[in-house]
Amino acid sequence: MTLLEARGLDKTYRRSGNPVRAIRCIDLSVASGDRLGIVGESGSGKSTLVRMLAGLLEPSFGQVLYRGNPINGANREQLRELRRGVQMVFQDPRSSLNPRMRIGDIIAEPLFSPVQPRSIRAHAVERVAELMDLVELDDVAPNVYPHELSGGQRQRVAIARALAPAPEVLIADEAVSALDVSVRAHVLNLITDLVATQNLTLVFVSHDLTVVRHLCDRMVVMRDGVIVEQGRTEAIHANPTDDYTARLLASVPRLPGH
Ligand code: ADP
Repeated sequence: MTLLEARGLDKTYRRSGNPVRAIRCIDLSVASGDRLGIVGESGSGKSTLVRMLAGLLEPSFGQVLYRGNPINGANREQLRELRRGVQMVFQDPRSSLNPRMRIGDIIAEPLFSPVQPRSIRAHAVERVAELMDLVELDDVAPNVYPHELSGGQRQRVAIARALAPAPEVLIADEAVSALDVSVRAHVLNLITDLVATQNLTLVFVSHDLTVVRHLCDRMVVMRDGVIVEQGRTEAIHANPTDDYTARLLASVPRLPGH
């Protein structure tokens, strides 16, 4: 079943009064169980596209549909469903995590509406422990602050927070790009495991084609706000039909065994 769909999606930003057309009339669909990679050089519009898919950014034209319902014009119940069902992990956990909150509260936050009394929040303790276990942070106390953790641990907190409302789609936007190389593989393996064990549909944005090949069965190649190629990851690697894709692939060091 199609979970997310972009129809004629277009986004123009204003920069010092001048229009920047970041996304140009994109159609895309993400089905349940997909592991979709979105690749392209910096500035090609990847973040803009996925932020619109997550309902975090308003399109200039076109529509995003979640489970067949347009999210602009969605009623409150449908919006709540989107907010719960589609979660994002960003590149830099230092800016995506509130530095003044303890990590246990950061992880628990998406579980509650702001009006819920503290007594109900107490029940979150168990769920937070379960989530910290899931992202292999069981050796960290929930009452520490983000700055007390390493970069890899902070990104695990961001992942735990994203998983808190048991989403069906996880959108990761360059989620491992800011991490040290030694930590990157561990977090990638964690994401791979979580996609399988938590039944997640994955949208994985990266400028790194090697990572996308490892993680994604389908991929979309973006350039200057449009999709220049899409298909099965292995088919595109074997036989890119677009010149730009061929150049991107040629710039990637070959993996042993490929
Ligand atoms: P990518 O994720 O592929 O690096 P982005 O979606 O971040 O691409 O950016 C696409 C284009 O939109 C770039 O030209 C970028 O400079 C521009 N852009 C992104 N965000 C903004 C913004 N908030 N205001 C103005 N221009 C933006």
